[in-house]
Amino acid sequence: RRFGLEAERIVCGNGSDELIALLSRAYAGPGDEVLFSRHGFLMYRLSTLAVGATPRAAPEKDLHTDVEALLAMVSPRTRILYLGNPNNPTGSYLTAAELKELRRRLPAEVLLVIDAAYAEYVEAPDYDSGEDLVRAGDNVVMLRTFSKIYGLAGLRLGWAYCPPGIADALNRVRGPFNTSAQAQAEALAALED
Ligand SMILES: *Cc1c(COP(=O)(O)O)cnc(C)c1O
Repeated sequence: RRFGLEAERIVCGNGSDELIALLSRAYAGPGDEVLFSRHGFLMYRLSTLAVGATPRAAPEKDLHTDVEALLAMVSPRTRILYLGNPNNPTGSYLTAAELKELRRRLPAEVLLVIDAAYAEYVEAPDYDSGEDLVRAGDNVVMLRTFSKIYGLAGLRLGWAYCPPGIADALNRVRGPFNTSAQAQAEALAALED
């Protein structure tokens, strides 16, 4: 309700870190490749290694995600592309137009995960956190968290906005009791603050 999104497309996690781990578990494994930008958030590499898949890091230009370099590294084994947007630790971002272009040129079977942990901090008019791209098809997920703008990292609550089929897969692989009642209550209070 707060962001104008459909509740059935939202999956909550014990921090968005858990959702990154679950996406990797659901969509990648031994023999598969997972792609990200060289200085992409550390969990992309760690969750890839944890499921036995192969991490592939594309070079950056001036600490900035390089769309051409990412696309050049896509192979028939690529399953997921994780994009921190804006990225941690570089603070750089792809514009809405660049993001759309990246999705358009990626093979349809590569899942694009837009990790928008810092979305609330961006005031640039050319930025978009990606919910329209999620709605537009079945191969984009957006991640958000209460850890940054709400200062509640210790609470452990993040959420994924997903195409219905991906929400279904995440709901199958997550633990049925993954988020605590306390985290849910405090996050609702934070949203209303
Ligand atoms: C902090 C951070 C996360 C993880 O946050 P959680 O505390 O697990 O919700 C994910 N992605 C990026 C880019 C971050 O900076």
